[in-house]
Amino acid sequence: MSHVTDDGRLAFIATCDLVALTRGRSIPARDLAAKSRTGVGWVPADLALTTFGDIADPNRFGALGDIRLIPDGTRATLPAVGGRPRTDVVLASIVEPDGTPWACDPRTALVDAVRALDATGLHLKVAFEQEFALLGADGHLGPSPAGMPVPPPFSLDAFRAAEPFGSELVSALYGAGLEPENWLPEYGAGQFEITVGPADPVTAADRAILVRALVRDLATAHGMRASFVPLLSPDAVGNGVHVHLSLWDADGSPVTLDEDGDLTTPAGRFAAGILAHAPALIGWSAPSVISSFRLAPHRWSSAAAFLGRQNREAMLRICPVVTIGSNGQSGANLEFRAADATANPWLVAAALIRAGLDGLTRELPSPAVLDMELDALDAEGRKRFGVTEIPRTQAAALAAIEADEIALGWFAEDLVATHLGIRRTEAALLADLTPEEQCRRYADVI
Ligand code: GLU
Ligand code: MG
Repeated sequence: MSHVTDDGRLAFIATCDLVALTRGRSIPARDLAAKSRTGVGWVPADLALTTFGDIADPNRFGALGDIRLIPDGTRATLPAVGGRPRTDVVLASIVEPDGTPWACDPRTALVDAVRALDATGLHLKVAFEQEFALLGADGHLGPSPAGMPVPPPFSLDAFRAAEPFGSELVSALYGAGLEPENWLPEYGAGQFEITVGPADPVTAADRAILVRALVRDLATAHGMRASFVPLLSPDAVGNGVHVHLSLWDADGSPVTLDEDGDLTTPAGRFAAGILAHAPALIGWSAPSVISSFRLAPHRWSSAAAFLGRQNREAMLRICPVVTIGSNGQSGANLEFRAADATANPWLVAAALIRAGLDGLTRELPSPAVLDMELDALDAEGRKRFGVTEIPRTQAAALAAIEADEIALGWFAEDLVATHLGIRRTEAALLADLTPEEQCRRYADVI
């Protein structure tokens, strides 16, 4: 039984950093309105933290600087469960002490990317679909007590085994206005998926961050652990983050697909931009040491860079339009499947927008659409459908950022250098471990 008065209720003002961890500091919730303009203090070098708590070397920021977390983003309440009081979490933008946006703020990077896209007269809606594993306190898979068999994939038993976690999660998401859509037991042992409704890109990425926070918090309150790690072990079923993208015109009409279900001219250019920058994009969307283990054939993640229909090995997929009970157009979207939860959702969305914008600016031709199995194609067929290789290692994915001159211009130079420094520091830290051990190190945090 906790004894928290209204005066003790806390609001946690948070950023999501380059290793996709939500960090910040709390103030009494009653002071939130008064602090909405001045925010709370923060330190530039915090952005150079690796997944494992070390500061990357080199660290561009050194010991210098003061910045502010301004609580201007989406908020959610972590519910009172398991003796913990409820806590408000408010996402923040980062500014200099004089209020100028901080050049390395990941949220501002997305705000800027959205502004650049909006200036073309096209607008994007985004939705994040996230998979994760529930683990028992001793690390066993799934929400059932240790020693009980893991229920079958997608089964009612697997769904019920996780109760009341699932219903509490959906309640908390509703309460926060995050528009939960699906809560389901997934294919992997102990694996679940949560999807929330589409929104403007900044809100959607905010939601992705808050969904992770709510899932982790509720799991802990129930004596479990939730892990969004891309792979719990090298042979495990992957936990993906799939990003759904739909384009809209200035009148609010959907312009992703035409009446025949093909990409419109602008959507084709946008998709072509994403494929053109696939390697660098993966350097942002799947940046950890173990991320590339998941992006392999037959894992239903992203086996290569191509545009697919009815194909879950595609990096970019045209989602089926559901015409039962509607004209379908409003649900038309493209799904980017090559992201995972080691990546910052603001930066994943920003990088996708920047890549798509480049396709629009250069008026790239619409990509070919592959609607059969990738394995059915020989080398000639792969060429015809524009199938290209994606980076097979973390080192290759990071090098792809440096090799792509356009992608290098998407974010502030210090931000890019810090991202590369963090991820290379992690590679060095884990260099002597087996892939199994590397997965475990990430699973303990992510
Ligand atoms: N678990 C797969 C991944 O790693 C996705 C499976 C699905 O299509 O939902 O991305
Ligand atoms: Mg799934």
